[in-house]
Amino acid sequence: MDNKALGYEGIDFSDPDDYAPETEICSFCGSESDERIGYNKKMDLLKRACSNCGAIYIEDGEGEIIILKGEKRNWGTYLKKNFIFPFEAVVDEASDEEVFGFGDPGPIRYKDRVTVTNTDFEDDIYGVIAEIKKGRKKYSFPLCDLAVVDNKSPNYKLLDDYRTWFANCR
Ligand SMILES: [Zn+2]
Repeated sequence: MDNKALGYEGIDFSDPDDYAPETEICSFCGSESDERIGYNKKMDLLKRACSNCGAIYIEDGEGEIIILKGEKRNWGTYLKKNFIFPFEAVVDEASDEEVFGFGDPGPIRYKDRVTVTNTDFEDDIYGVIAEIKKGRKKYSFPLCDLAVVDNKSPNYKLLDDYRTWFANCR
């Protein structure tokens, strides 16, 4: 619980919610598992919870978030700890150079299959950077442009959630 949450103790969230139950993308873990669990009409406060990561938080009328349980994820650290390396991935986003035909698209292209050997630092623009191998050569490449090949691997949902979070929540 962060300090701001202290002022929100004892608020009643049992007002009827006009909205139909809906899941949204969790801004903590990126999974589409976030649901409204309560509403306070007078204060215009929504209580939300994520069944994937267990985060519980209050959202006010301005979209400000007050965290009751859970914390903002440090994706760089989290992925490094939870990925099982190495894993096979495919480049499923084409670079601007490839799409628009200007400049040098570099050695890694759309639909290339690569091996992710590790994840590195988090870049302000590109997010988490993957260390990859294509053939025998090593490269650094934005993780957000890669998808795990084996959809039964635990890495699959992990990367999928990260990409959803990266595209929608940061
Ligand atoms: Zn979550």
